[in-house]
Amino acid sequence: MANRPRVVVVGTGFAGYHCLRTLESLLGPDDADLVAVNPTDYMLYLPLLPEVTAGILDPRRIAVPLRTKLPRTRLVLGSVSDVDVADQKCTVVDIEGRESVLEWDRLVITSGSVTRLLSIPGVAEYAKGFRSIAEAVFLRDHILRQLELAEQSDDPAERAARTTFVVVGAGYTGTELAAQGQLLTREALRRYKGLSEKDVRWLLVDMAPRVLPGLSKRLSGPALRVLRRRGVDVRLQTSVKEVTATCVKLTDDTEIPTRTVAWCVGVRPDPLVESTQLEAVQGRIAVDRKLRTAANQNVFAAGDVAAVPDATRPGEITPMTAQHAQRQGKVAGVNVAASLGHGMMHQYKHHDLGFLVDLAGPSAVADPLHIPISGLPAKAITRGYHLLALPGNRARVLADWAIDLVSTRQFVQLGLVRGTSMEDADQPPM
Ligand SMILES: Cc1cc2nc3c(=O)[nH]c(=O)nc-3n(C[C@H](O)[C@H](O)[C@H](O)COP(=O)(O)OP(=O)(O)OC[C@H]3O[C@@H](n4cnc5c(N)ncnc54)[C@H](O)[C@@H]3O)c2cc1C
Repeated sequence: MANRPRVVVVGTGFAGYHCLRTLESLLGPDDADLVAVNPTDYMLYLPLLPEVTAGILDPRRIAVPLRTKLPRTRLVLGSVSDVDVADQKCTVVDIEGRESVLEWDRLVITSGSVTRLLSIPGVAEYAKGFRSIAEAVFLRDHILRQLELAEQSDDPAERAARTTFVVVGAGYTGTELAAQGQLLTREALRRYKGLSEKDVRWLLVDMAPRVLPGLSKRLSGPALRVLRRRGVDVRLQTSVKEVTATCVKLTDDTEIPTRTVAWCVGVRPDPLVESTQLEAVQGRIAVDRKLRTAANQNVFAAGDVAAVPDATRPGEITPMTAQHAQRQGKVAGVNVAASLGHGMMHQYKHHDLGFLVDLAGPSAVADPLHIPISGLPAKAITRGYHLLALPGNRARVLADWAIDLVSTRQFVQLGLVRGTSMEDADQPPM
């Protein structure tokens, strides 16, 4: 055992999971010890998170169990807090806060990204994050709770505030969340005799001049039309000045009374990058096309945390998407195996295949292979793609989708929001 090289993978999201799957297939049990450090025992399939808030998918469907899918990997539940690149060690803080030191022969950093908070007053305290299963389920509970409280209130101003939902950030996450959220409340309202559809208001706010600003322009127009047709108030070229417990102040000087601000303004690389002291580009770890760092050729990085040269757009780095993270993870696995004498190294190159945005109900926009489509064909492609890309739980996801087609959703709270004050103080941290 002592003679076997140890490969440590930090984070088991898209890149880390696919790296380990590749390593398990390329290396025999005696070739290396595989160790994964991750705070959860599952790989989270983030693109379907809005469907969890909507109540279409059970939260477990998007959690792919690591112990089943990576049988040869030793899972350490915790986070890496520090990496010593020179001495080939890292510090692990386990889920009970205990520190230990883990030595490695090869290190693959795939710790992804975190929500970008921006220094806007009140965001950290009152806005709701949307990046984990806990946050997605919490947000659903919170939305249903607001409908209950609005119905019980005799004060028109309080009713209006509780039935106003603001999503900040019109990238794919915010746009999908606003679309799913609006349909969720529309469906739920049928059970609230004291509220009608016109009482509920959804706003989507972004400082960009179009929705889906990072994606092809040809998706923005159709997505905007779907949202506006459904009554979502889309405010473009508008940002947030302040969030309080009872309102959001926008840069156009409007003040919107609300108890719900969902924060989807984008992500920044995982803060672990700073502790490594490795060279960074735009806050991401600089690697070559073999995904290796210059400072130590035994250190690899992939996914959102890595600045990988984009061979299809010289001078640029690859965008932070699941499409790239998954493929970079596989290349990192191949190259780590090659560095241990098993196979040849690959250079990363991937032509973007386009993007898929689910707008809830029968609506979606997509540009597979850069051909823009919308409506039911886009919806079918979007769901088909997710089903293929999801590394596990496929039958269960399919079953949830089928059930959602033929039956009504369960509009119940799970009791996660316990705060009695106006700001519902018990939210999970962003
Ligand atoms: C709501 C949402 C929807 C999205 N939808 C799409 C979409 O439709 N299409 C698309 O292409 N992209 C989408 N993305 C972006 C996509 O999910 C990311 O680009 C992708 O997850 C990046 O993969 P990754 O492996 O780099 O990081 P992640 O998948 O984020 O995985 C990182 C892992 O590392 C763990 N980790 C973090 N820090 C540490 C540490 N210090 N120690 C140990 N472990 C750590 C995390 O817990 C996590 O498990 C979406 C993102 C979000 C938030």
